Amino acid sequence: MGVSHKQYVAYLTELILLTHSEEYDREAYLVWVKSVCRDYRIAKAVTEFYPTPMMRRNGQGEIFCDVDNGKGVKILLRIELMTKTKSTIIGTLYTEEEDEERTEEEKKQLDIFLRLIIGFVARRRLIRTLQEFGFEDETGFPNYRALSRYLDIANVENTLGGKVAFHMDLHNFTMVNQEIGRKNGDIVMRTFFNMVKDVIGDTGILIRLGGDKFVGIFDRKVKRQVFELLSGTLVPYDKAEDKKILVQAAVGVYMLPNPFTMNVYGDIMDKIMMASMAAKQQTEGTIVIYDDRMKNERNRTKKVQTDFRSALVNEEFQVYYQPKVDIETRKLSGAEALCRWLKNGKIVPPLDFIPILEINTDICDLDFYMLDHVCRHIRRWLDEGRDVVRISVNFSRKHLMDVDLLEHILEVVDRNKVPHEYIEIELTETTTDVQFRDLKRIVSGLQEQGIWTAVDDFGMGYSSLNLIRDIPWNVLKVDKNFVPKNAEDTGNITNVMFRHVISLAQDIGLECVIEGVETVDQLEVLRENNCNIVQGYFFDRPLPLEEFEQRLDEKYYPE
Ligand code: C2E
Ligand code: MG
Ligand code: MG
Repeated sequence: MGVSHKQYVAYLTELILLTHSEEYDREAYLVWVKSVCRDYRIAKAVTEFYPTPMMRRNGQGEIFCDVDNGKGVKILLRIELMTKTKSTIIGTLYTEEEDEERTEEEKKQLDIFLRLIIGFVARRRLIRTLQEFGFEDETGFPNYRALSRYLDIANVENTLGGKVAFHMDLHNFTMVNQEIGRKNGDIVMRTFFNMVKDVIGDTGILIRLGGDKFVGIFDRKVKRQVFELLSGTLVPYDKAEDKKILVQAAVGVYMLPNPFTMNVYGDIMDKIMMASMAAKQQTEGTIVIYDDRMKNERNRTKKVQTDFRSALVNEEFQVYYQPKVDIETRKLSGAEALCRWLKNGKIVPPLDFIPILEINTDICDLDFYMLDHVCRHIRRWLDEGRDVVRISVNFSRKHLMDVDLLEHILEVVDRNKVPHEYIEIELTETTTDVQFRDLKRIVSGLQEQGIWTAVDDFGMGYSSLNLIRDIPWNVLKVDKNFVPKNAEDTGNITNVMFRHVISLAQDIGLECVIEGVETVDQLEVLRENNCNIVQGYFFDRPLPLEEFEQRLDEKYYPE
C-alpha cells in the first residue's frame, strides 16, 4: 500500500512552499516531515552539514535528526551534495530491518523530497556561514557590520528610542599587554567584553570596532550596571592564581531620545565618538555624556580650521601691539605683537582661535605670518627714521618639533632686513624632557644670532627653576597671577616666592616683564620688588598699528 499520487503532489507542493518562503517555519516543517516519514514508512531521517572538508574529516558538523523511532538501521537513500565552496550536505533516510521493499515510484518520490530538503539546508547554512564571516572580525568579535545590521533592524522596528549608545576606548590597553603579556591581554579583552555583553543581554548589542575600541547599545534599564563595569573593573585572567587586572575605559555616551529615528549611522556614531574624545581628554575611567554643545564646539573647530587658510591668504589677521613700559622712567621699552582676526568686520580674540590652530600645526603658519608682518613694520619704521623698540612675537610650543625652526626664523628676519636685536621670540615653558631639550637648543641658537628670547607666562604652569637656570633666556615674562595682590602682607607665601624669584632672575641677568598690570596698587607692589618693566591695561591695551605708532613717536607715558 503506497502513497497515492495525489497525496505525493500535496506533499511536494507543501515542501516547495516551506522551503521557498522568506521565513523558515520550523514547526510546520516538522509536521510535514513526520507525516511523510509515517506515510513512506521511514524510521529515521538525518541531515548533516559540514562547512569545510577538514571539519567533515574531524566530524565537526551540524547534524539534524528530525525523525527517529529508534529502529532505523537500513539505509534506504543517501544523497550527498558538495557546494563550490566545499561544504558538504548529506541527507540519509533509514528504514527498519525487516521492512518490505519500496516501489520504484516511492523511491523516486523520496529522492525528490530529499534533494529539495538538502538543497534548502545548504542554502540556509551557507547564508549563516557567510553572515558569521561577515559579521565577525578575525578574532571572533562581532564587528561594525553586525552593529549596522542591528541598528537597521531596530530602526525599522522603532525600538531605538530611549536606548543608550556608547563608544569605549580601553585605556592604555597596550600597557595591559606589556604588563601581563599579549596572550593574557587577549583573555582580559575577551573576558571584559563578555562581562559587558552579559549585562547588556538581549537589550542591545556590543561590537568591536577594532583594536581596543568597542561600541555598544543597550536599554536604559541596565544603564547602572553597564556604567559600573565601564567605569573600571577588575578583570580576571588567571583563575588558578587568582590574577586580575584593572580595566578602565574612556567612554562616550549618547542617550537616544524617545522616539528616535536614525537617518544615517552618523546620527548615533558621530555623537558617541565626540563624547568619547572628550572622555579621553579627562582622567581614567570617565564616562562623558554627549550634549549638543559638543557638536557646536566641533562645528566651530571645523569652521575655524577651514576658514583659517583663506584668512591667511586674505591677510585677515592683524598685528596689535601692546606696549611694555619702564615704570621708573615711564619710557616705552618694547611691545608684544598680539594677533587679532578681523573677520566680517568683527575682531575675534586669540583665545577663540589659537587653541584650535594648535590642534594641528596651523598655528605655526600663523606665527610666521605674524613674524613677517612685524618685520615689515619694523623695516618701515626704521626707513621712516623712527625710534624703534624691540618687538616680541609669540611662538607656539608646536614649533619645537621643527628642526629647522632657527633657520626659518632667521630667513624671515633677514629677508626683511631687520637687525636681530629688534626681534624677541616668546616661548612658553614646557613639561616634558624632550621638549625641554628642544627648547634649550632653539633658545641657544637664537641667542647666538642676537635674537632675544623670552619665557612667557612664567608662574602659570608648573614652572621649574631649571627652566631659568639651564636655558639662556633674556627675558622672564611673569604672569599676572604670580604677582601678589597686596604689598603689605610681606610674610605671605605668594609675596615671598615672588620676591625671591624676581631677585633670582635679576641676579642672573634676566629682564623681568610683568604682564597684566591693571591698577596703581599692583604697580606699587612691583616698585617695591624692583620690577621695572610692565605690560598691562594700566598703560595700554593691545593697540592697532596706527595707535601704536603714535606711542612710538611719543616715547614716554605722562605721570
Ligand atoms: P600672552 O602671550 O600671554 O599675551 C598676553 C595676553 O594678556 C594678551 O591677551 C593681552 O591682551 C592680555 N593682557 C595684557 N595686559 C592685560 C591686563 O592688564 N589685563 C588682562 N586681563 N589681560 C591683559 P590676548 O591678546 O587675548 O592673547 C592671549 C594669548 O593668545 C596670548 O597670551 C598668547 O598666548 C596667544 N597669542 C596671541 N597672539 C598670538 C600669536 O600671534 N601667536 C601665538 N602662538 N599665540 C598668540
Ligand atoms: Mg606672549
Ligand atoms: Mg603671557
